[in-house]
Amino acid sequence: MKRERDTDQQILEAIDRWLERQVAGKVARLEHDDVYPAEMVGQMTKLGLFGATIGPQYGGLGLPAELYARIVARISEVWMSLTGIFNSHLMMSLLVEKFGDKKLKTRYLPKFAAGEIRGGLALTEPNAGTDLQAIRMQAVKEGDHYVLNGTKTWISNGIHGACFAVLAKTDPNADPRHKGMSMFLCEKGPGFSAGRKLEKLGYKGIDSAELVFQDYRVPAANLIGGEEGRGFQQAVAGLELGRINVAARGVGVAAAALAEALRYSQQRETFGKPICEHQAIQLKLGEMATRVEAARLLVRNAAEMYDRGERCDMEAGMAKYFASEAAFENAHEAMRIHGGYGYSKEFAVERLYRDAPLLCIGEGTNEMQRIIIARQLIRRNPI
Ligand SMILES: Cc1cc2nc3c(=O)[nH]c(=O)nc-3n(C[C@H](O)[C@H](O)[C@H](O)COP(=O)(O)OP(=O)(O)OC[C@H]3O[C@@H](n4cnc5c(N)ncnc54)[C@H](O)[C@@H]3O)c2cc1C
Repeated sequence: MKRERDTDQQILEAIDRWLERQVAGKVARLEHDDVYPAEMVGQMTKLGLFGATIGPQYGGLGLPAELYARIVARISEVWMSLTGIFNSHLMMSLLVEKFGDKKLKTRYLPKFAAGEIRGGLALTEPNAGTDLQAIRMQAVKEGDHYVLNGTKTWISNGIHGACFAVLAKTDPNADPRHKGMSMFLCEKGPGFSAGRKLEKLGYKGIDSAELVFQDYRVPAANLIGGEEGRGFQQAVAGLELGRINVAARGVGVAAAALAEALRYSQQRETFGKPICEHQAIQLKLGEMATRVEAARLLVRNAAEMYDRGERCDMEAGMAKYFASEAAFENAHEAMRIHGGYGYSKEFAVERLYRDAPLLCIGEGTNEMQRIIIARQLIRRNPI
C-alpha cells in the first residue's frame, strides 16, 4: 500500500515538474494564438498520458480513476485544453478495451497507449448532440466491410487525430432507435477526412473539427463488440469516466481561478489596504474556496466508486455538474476581483473565464446532468 502511494506521488511530482518547466510559461502565447501544442503533446506521450487508463498488458499505465482525476485537475490548473487532447483519446481507448474483441484490442491498444495512434470519440452531429439517437450517420454492410456516410461535428482532436470511435446507424428504422446504433473504430483514409477546424470562444490549442465520411469503407472487424445495435449502450457506458474527467477539469479551473484571485487580492490596494481585507472580497474568496473543496470531494467520491466497480452514474453526474459550475462561478468571481485587469488578455483569468463554460456543456450538458441525477434519485428511492 505504501509503495503504491509513493508511486502515485512520483507520478504527480513528474506532472508538476513538467507543468512548471515546460507548460506554464508558454500557455498564454499558444492559447491566444490558438496554436496546437505539438511539443507538449510529445512530452505528454513520454509521460505516458495517452496510455494513462489503458491496462498495463497493453503498455498503458492502468491508473485508477481517482489518481487519473487528480492528474487531470492539476493539468487543468495550468491549461485545461491539454487534458482534452489525451482524454478524448482515452475515451476511444476505453471503448476498445471494454467492448472490443481480442483481435481489436491487441491490434490497437498498444499503439493507443504509446500515443503512436491518437484520436478521439465522434458522437455529435450537426443536428444531434444531446439527443444522440437522432444521429443520421449511416453504416451499411457490404461483404466484410461497412460503408459509412455522414458528418460529425465538434470532434476533439479532429484534425490531428488519426483514429476515432464513430457512432453510426446500422438500422435507421429500429424501434427503439438505440437498437439500430453501432460503434466503429475508424482510421482516417480514403473517404474519411477532417473538415474545417471550428473557431471557439475558449478551449483553444486543441483542434475541434468536423469529420466527413463519404463512402468510407471500414472493415467489419472494426465494429466494436462484433455485434450491431450495441453502439448507444457503449457510448453511454463510457460516460461515467468521461464525466469524472470533466469534473476533474472543473476542479482544476476553479482552483486556478481561486489561486489567481487570492494572489491578486493580496497585492492590489484600495483605500489604503489590500482588497482582500474588504469584506466584500472576503465573501467571494470564502465561497470560491468552499466550491473548490466541495468539487474536489465530489470528484474523489465518484472516482473511488468507479474504481471499486460500483455504479456511479449519479455520483459522476453530481461531480460533473457541481465542479463545472464551480469553475464557471469561480472564473467569473476571479475576473470581478481583478477589476479592469480581469478584462485584460495579460492576466490568466480571462482565459479561465472563456474556458469554463465548455465544462458546463461537454460530456452531457448540465441541464441533462440534473435530470439524470433526479431520475437516479427517484429510481434508487422508490416509495
Ligand atoms: C469544444 C467542444 C468540444 C466537443 N468535443 C466533442 C467530441 O470530442 N466528441 C463529440 O462527440 N462531441 C463533442 N462535443 C459536442 C458536445 O458533446 C455537444 O455540444 C453537447 O452534447 C450538446 O449538444 P448540442 O450542442 O447539440 O446541444 P443541444 O442538444 O442542441 O442542446 C441545446 C440546449 O438544449 C438543452 N436540452 C437538450 N435536450 C434537453 C432535454 N431533454 N431536457 C432539457 N434540456 C435539454 C441542452 O442542455 C442545451 O442547453 C464538443 C462540443 C464542444 C463545444
